[in-house]
This record gives sequence, C-alpha cells and structure tokens, in this order.
Amino acid sequence: MSRIINTVLGPITGDQVGKTLMHEHFVFGFPGFSGDVTCGEFDFDEALKISIKVAERAKSHGVKTIVDATANDCGRNPTLLKAIAENTGLNILASTGYYLESLGSPAYFKFRSSLGDAVEEIYEMMMKEITVGIGKTGVKAGVIKLASSKDEITDYERMFFKAGARAQKETGATIITHTEAGTMGVEQAELLISEGADPSHIAIGHMCGNTDIRYATSVLNKGVFIAFDRFGLEAEGWGTPKDADREALAVALIARGYINQLLFSHDSVNINLGRPVVWPENMVKNMEAANIGRIFDVIIPDLLKMGIRDEQINNIMVKNPAKLLG
Ligand SMILES: [Zn+2]
Repeated sequence: MSRIINTVLGPITGDQVGKTLMHEHFVFGFPGFSGDVTCGEFDFDEALKISIKVAERAKSHGVKTIVDATANDCGRNPTLLKAIAENTGLNILASTGYYLESLGSPAYFKFRSSLGDAVEEIYEMMMKEITVGIGKTGVKAGVIKLASSKDEITDYERMFFKAGARAQKETGATIITHTEAGTMGVEQAELLISEGADPSHIAIGHMCGNTDIRYATSVLNKGVFIAFDRFGLEAEGWGTPKDADREALAVALIARGYINQLLFSHDSVNINLGRPVVWPENMVKNMEAANIGRIFDVIIPDLLKMGIRDEQINNIMVKNPAKLLG
C-alpha cells in the first residue's frame, strides 16, 4: 500500500502525483520583509491572480504536482497555496521547516534553545503541521524543508535536521533540503540517516549548484535522491553554473545508472514578498530565464537532442517524484 501524501487540499497517493516540480516558490521573502509592510504591503488577491497564471503555465506542460519549498520563516502562505490549488486543480504540497542560518531568521529558535530543548519544540512544530495543520488553516504540510550553510551545517541548522529526521520517521513525510553553493550534500545525507531518516524519502536539493560529478555521485551513493532544482537560474555573481553544465552532468549521471535518483525543478520565485523587486539591468535576462516553464521549453528539448529518451524524462519527472513522495 502506498503512503498518504498531504497536499494543501488533502491526502493523495503516489499514483496521483503525476508530473512533478519538486522545488518552486509561489511566494518567497527574505526574513525581514514583514517589517517593511508599510512600503511592501502584501495583496492577497493580486498574489492569487499571479499564482494562478503560474500554475496554469505549469499545467500547460502537463504538471500535476508542485512542491512549494518556501520555509516557515520566508513567508510560507498555506491559505494562498490552498486557494491556488482550489482554483487550478493542481496538487500543491506545503513545507514545514526553517531556512539556513545566514539567510533565515535564527533569532527565535536560538532564544528558545536558551530556555530549554529547542529540538523537541521544532519536532513538535513539524509534527503538528504535518498531522494537524499549519496554524489554524487546517492545511497540512506535505514535506519537511531543511537547509544548511556553505561548507557547514551550523549548530542552529543541526537542530532542524535532528527534528526533521525524527518527524520523517514518525510520519513518513518526505524531506527536501537546501544546500548552499554546492556544498554539504554528503554531510546532510549522513546526518539525516544517522538520525534515523529513510534515505529513499530524502531529496538533497540544489545539487545542480556543483557540477563536479564526484560530488554528485558521493551524495547519490548514500541512497538519497538529488535535485537539479535550479534550472534557469544562471545569475551572474551568484556563482551558479550554466544550464548547459547542469544538462551535461544530468546526462553523465544517467549514463552511470543513477536515473532513478534524479529530480528536476526550477526554484522559481514567482512573487517576492516585501517591496517589488526591480532587477539590475545585467540580471534582467537571467531572471527571465528562471521561470516555471524553463525545463519544458529549453531543458528537455536539449536533453532529447543529447540522446536522452522520452521514457527517461518520464522516469525523472513522473516516476521518481511518485516514489520519493509516495
Ligand atoms: Zn528554493
């Protein structure tokens, strides 16, 4: 029997997952955005309108399920996600978890840890969000989101990995992660597995941030999935690889027999919370490429030209997410 998967509208099973994008953001805000409410007010109806367009674009490529990877401290919005799902019929999974120490909001759980057992409190939060719901919305989280820093999993981040592994053991919920600048994939997998998490329900994220095949295979050999989840993001100055290098790595890993552990997504941010973002001129073109259609418009056609077959694309976009989540 396949496991239950929590979408924002209720449970589905693995065979209902279909073509899936494993890591996107309908909304995202760097912590602190909520303090700028005077100049960057959130307009729910406008956000819903934009999100429905994004969802419809994904659906036009046959996408059935989107995992919204927005962490609790980055403006995760279960009510909006629910409204998008109701309006479009898309399966949407919400996350439970916090962002990395340097880009997230560590003050709160650092304070909590000075009072008592913060790992226990984070575990309690994740368990409630997965089994009861997020706040009073009744919307249950579908995945556990974890994140670490460049070249380090800090003590603060470690608390979430410990709590997340335990919550996964008890609920079966899938773990998705953020790695920073193509580092710590192996350490994330080892930490989670040592804490009792099941590697077959872990997706180590942003693995296309480092196109060294030795790094990729060392993570894959832990038995986890790895996500090429930043297709389209080639922002200069952010140290991200080019899509062509990501494609070459994907093809090489498929040739080495790792196809059953690969996932594709964009990490698109469709609405920035806070004030509107106006990209500097040299980034406008790059950021336009980082959209929810990129894999279908550009990447898959490229891969087919490189000798990858339709059934292999289907393996990555449909079968793997169903196995990981279900
Ligand atoms: Zn992301």
